Amino acid sequence: MKSNPRTAIDGLPSYPIKPGVTFPDWSVVESPVARDALLAIFEVFDMDRVWHGYTAAEDTVRTAVLSHYRRNGKAPTIAELTALCDMAEDQIAASLQDLKARDLVVLDDTQRRLTGAYPFTERNTGHRVKLGDTSVNAMCAIDALGAGAMVGSDTRIESSCRHCTTPIRITTRRNGHAIGQVSPAETVAWTGIQYEGQAATSLCTVTAFFCCDAHLDAWRADNRQDRGYRMSVDQGMQTGMAIFKPFLAGSGRHDATLDGRVSQ
Ligand SMILES: [Zn+2]
Repeated sequence: MKSNPRTAIDGLPSYPIKPGVTFPDWSVVESPVARDALLAIFEVFDMDRVWHGYTAAEDTVRTAVLSHYRRNGKAPTIAELTALCDMAEDQIAASLQDLKARDLVVLDDTQRRLTGAYPFTERNTGHRVKLGDTSVNAMCAIDALGAGAMVGSDTRIESSCRHCTTPIRITTRRNGHAIGQVSPAETVAWTGIQYEGQAATSLCTVTAFFCCDAHLDAWRADNRQDRGYRMSVDQGMQTGMAIFKPFLAGSGRHDATLDGRVSQ
């Protein structure tokens, strides 16, 4: 399966992932600022590199990794992936290299161990997402907000103000598709626009929650963050859903089910 190069829907860039699934899901984006943030992210990310020529083998491995995260809160080993994907270890390792080159997964220095697969990571980022009984680290604020819609589950997000460390709690409803409660109520999200090498160590590090606009402004001044988008929690969720809803859509074999089984 080779995906076609980028196509445009209503003038907005769109990238085929597999039959019936395109990236991003523009249908969940109502807010102009959420749309503009996505367009800016795609510009620095080079989305053609991410999805062009994406193969069925890569998709099998990537969706198995995300489903494992959803069930266990951590990345699978290569040995676990060989069983989950019914593929040889060499094939798994090769697919992980391809996925790393697309910046869809992150590997450690040995290249044999997963340390992340967007939106999830092994790293303690300060953004924790609870999906039922499982708790997972999210790469950034936007990834935390999009994770529920990706797996089709309500979530509880625990994070903190990047400026003053005040705890921030957000719940989602409608199976991760709408914001429930936000505490503090004045919480805002910031998506910084910078990219170097991989999102995990660039874009994600400047995408965070703040307890109020004043603390976002203070942090931006302290850290010279000129380029980015200030969003309400709801607008941030639209951005996160647009990115991550397609990530497990149509992944049949590895669909993450609420009771943790892998559907065949
Ligand atoms: Zn604060």
